[in-house]
Amino acid sequence: MDQYIILGRIGEGAHGIVFKAKNIETGETVALKKVALRRLDDGIPNQALREIKALQEIEENPHVVKLKAVFPHGAGFVLVFEYMLSDLAEVIRNAQQPLTQAQVKGYMLMLLQGVAFCHANSIMHRDLKPANLLISSTGQLKIADFGLARLFSSDDSRLYSHQVATRWYRAPELLYGARRYDEGVDLWAVGCIFAELLNNSPLFPGENDIEQLCCVLRILGTPTQHTWPELPELPDYNKICFKQKPPVPLEEVLPDAPPQSLQLLRCFLLYPSRERVRAAQPLCLPTTQSCLCPSGAAGWPGRDPSTSMISM
Ligand code: ADP
Ligand code: MG
Repeated sequence: MDQYIILGRIGEGAHGIVFKAKNIETGETVALKKVALRRLDDGIPNQALREIKALQEIEENPHVVKLKAVFPHGAGFVLVFEYMLSDLAEVIRNAQQPLTQAQVKGYMLMLLQGVAFCHANSIMHRDLKPANLLISSTGQLKIADFGLARLFSSDDSRLYSHQVATRWYRAPELLYGARRYDEGVDLWAVGCIFAELLNNSPLFPGENDIEQLCCVLRILGTPTQHTWPELPELPDYNKICFKQKPPVPLEEVLPDAPPQSLQLLRCFLLYPSRERVRAAQPLCLPTTQSCLCPSGAAGWPGRDPSTSMISM
């Protein structure tokens, strides 16, 4: 810790306090995240160790925040990250008017690249939301806060906690108490973030867990066994009963969004997790490369006639 001068406090969340600091030797500005260790005997998996493990397991990616160092401090740890100027929650909050299509496209491409990279490395983030998407001084988006991340495996006998993900971005299977889920929870959150970028306001701003489910059902319609075959197997299925309501067309919910954006949004906001479009899918067309610059001229996300995938 002696190596750093603390310049100020920049954030505080569920898992730690984040400070802006300067490395005395190198002059580099960094973010220090102090995390207290939970007692291991209370049976709660250690968030701090998860974050370290998740970040150390993956190599570098331009859209995942870089962990520069870790050292023990008091009863916990300090994680040293590259310093990022802002986060997407702040960008949305400060926008005077809805973001331009080019901005939305740019952020979505970077988000999808980061998420695709995590999933390719068997890491589900489980808490994707605008406040955990950091923005650098050059406008690069990087996924941060792997405190809830977990390595997933094909061994589906493992039970996961359903108390993950900030409520507004929480997938419906988690709201129904699922303990077995997959990276689809991240893809749901990506859809919610996409809608928020398009509309400058959260799509499903539930004030409590039940109301959260109501918000989702109000827009996507009440799920049935036909639209969501796994529904009756979910732990809380019998605890909650909703009146049958049809979906509201997304064009009515997001009237200013381009039809092609809504077409992609629908591919994320599906009740069955396995039907949600995987993060790499919208990215895997050659046209994407020319669109990495937000001002790229290629259309987005139209259907490429040569494949059945969505191009961006
Ligand atoms: P928590 O688990 O407590 O939510 P985060 O890692 O999300 O912790 O950090 C909390 C907040 O601190 C973020 O929303 C962001 O505003 C700020 N922050 C986190 N990491 C950095 C960083 N590397 N550079 C700048 N700000 C950061
Ligand atoms: Mg956070």
